[in-house]
Amino acid sequence: MKCIICNKPVYGKQGMTAVGLGAIHKKCFPGHSLDNRVFQSLDVSALNDEDFVELKEIVLAEINARENVSQKTSIELF
Ligand SMILES: [Zn+2]
Repeated sequence: MKCIICNKPVYGKQGMTAVGLGAIHKKCFPGHSLDNRVFQSLDVSALNDEDFVELKEIVLAEINARENVSQKTSIELF
């Protein structure tokens, strides 16, 4: 199936069906920004798997770092 907007192949989760029109990428769908995966200027859905895993690791590391900070803060409160 090819996307009715950009005419590139549509695979699995990246696509959806536009009723009466055919396959369409979610990112090509008008108004897709309502369901966007763009963080600041980074289109997360456009990252390849390797980059996405790296981003995930960075986010998880940051979550851990912030949780540690908040735990220390709450300990100091007692
Ligand atoms: Zn498309």
